[in-house]
Parts: sequence; C-alpha cells; structure tokens
Amino acid sequence: MKTIVGNWKMNVGTRESVALARGVLLALRGKKRLPEVALCPPFTALGEVRKVVARSHASLGAQNVAAEEQGAFTGEISTRMLVELGVTHVIVGHSERRHLFGETDASVNQKVIRTLSAGMVPIVCVGEGAADRADGKERDVVAAQLRGALADLHLRHKERILFAYEPVWAIGSGTSDTPADAVAMHAWIRSLVPELLPGIKPEQVAVLYGGSIDGSNAYLFLREDEVDGLLVGGASVKLSEFTKILDAAADVLDARAA
Ligand code: PEP
Repeated sequence: MKTIVGNWKMNVGTRESVALARGVLLALRGKKRLPEVALCPPFTALGEVRKVVARSHASLGAQNVAAEEQGAFTGEISTRMLVELGVTHVIVGHSERRHLFGETDASVNQKVIRTLSAGMVPIVCVGEGAADRADGKERDVVAAQLRGALADLHLRHKERILFAYEPVWAIGSGTSDTPADAVAMHAWIRSLVPELLPGIKPEQVAVLYGGSIDGSNAYLFLREDEVDGLLVGGASVKLSEFTKILDAAADVLDARAA
C-alpha cells in the first residue's frame, strides 16, 4: 500500500479547505487502485472537510493534538475532541511543532500514546537538521527521536502507527532528499522496529517520506519499496500538484499489480 498525507498547515481557511477536499476526491475518481489518503486541514476546517470526505476513500487527519487528556489547557485540542470530529489520523511531532513550539520527545511520546488510546493513527514525524546531516549524525538523531517518541509503547492488536521521515532541511525548502538516501533512512528506521515496538515485524510498519515533494519527484520516491508513502506540505494545497502526486501513487500501485 502507499499512503499520501496532505498537511495543509495554516495555509487555508475553511472555504479553501472544502474546495481542496472536493478536488482531491475528484482526482481519485476513476482510478483503478487508490493509495490511502489522509487530509489534514487546520482545526477550524475539520468539521466542514469531514462532511466532504464522509463515505469517501479519504480520511480526515489533524495536524496536532494536546498531550494532556483534558482540563485547564487554554487553546489546546484533545484527542476526544478530534474523535468527535471524525478524525482518524494525527500528525505528531512535526518539525515545526518541535522547533517553533518547543515540543520534545517526551511530549511527542505522550501525544502518541493518547492518540493510540483514542483509537486514532499517529503519524510520527522524525528527521535530522542540516548540521546533523553534515556531521553524519542523521541516523543517531532519528533513532533518538524514535526511542523518545515510542518510549514504553506496546502496540495492541490492530493499533497502527505511521512514521514520517522528514529531514528538517528538506521541509519547505524546495530541495528534497535523494530517493536513495531516503530509502537508506527508511531501512534504518525499519531495522529499529523490533527494539522500538516489540512483537511488531519491520514490514508491518509504514514509513513515509516528507520534504519538498511535488508532482515532479513524487514518483521517484513512491516507486521505491522502502517508501510506503509521502507526507506532503506545500504541494498539498496546490490541487494540480497534489493530483500529480496521487496519480504517481496510483501508477505505482498499478505497475505493481501488473
Ligand atoms: C511538511 O511540512 O511535512 C512537509 C513535508 O512540507 P513540504 O512538503 O512543503 O516540504
């Protein structure tokens, strides 16, 4: 399977979100084989986008969630609130949350645990910065983030986690990683699975790539077996680009089935 996640960030209001969601559903129409698709609008648009994607192939995702369950946390959105809105996927630990809003591996860990116990799928983001990559420390950084995010976690039957490998320097920069380097990192992440998630087999875990994906490079990543899908930021709010990405995923699925 291939999974395509659109992270619309703080870039669209409700009206644009509804139009985008409708466009995505149109783009999926008529395809023989469909990737799994999760759309993550801003919180304020979740209710309206839910109506568009109801009974469709697309799932509804949130861009963040509170680490706490409930209480005096002004401005926070809890897992229960997201579930009420029909959310099934939650992006957790996005680099913008880590770097701009001070999220730590410990808070990411709490969010992962809460998301799973609410019955939703966390999309756990990890990735090294430019200096880490220059120092050859990318594997150590990613492993430490994963160990922190998944500390004391035991996946129960049917619970799912998606990992998103997003090198920080590639996010929104216009310079993606190379497919070869992404493949190597995905294989590294998969090799850590027996340690991180006891009882789970490496091939049961999905690892998405994110960072400057658009219609021109999506296929080059998606055709790699190690790349289970893509987390897309900027190009996910441009319907023509996102459509190309969905087309690339459908092409890969068709080629595999042939
Ligand atoms: C992201 O924000 O997760 C992301 C991958 O952004 P972009 O596609 O714009 O690099």
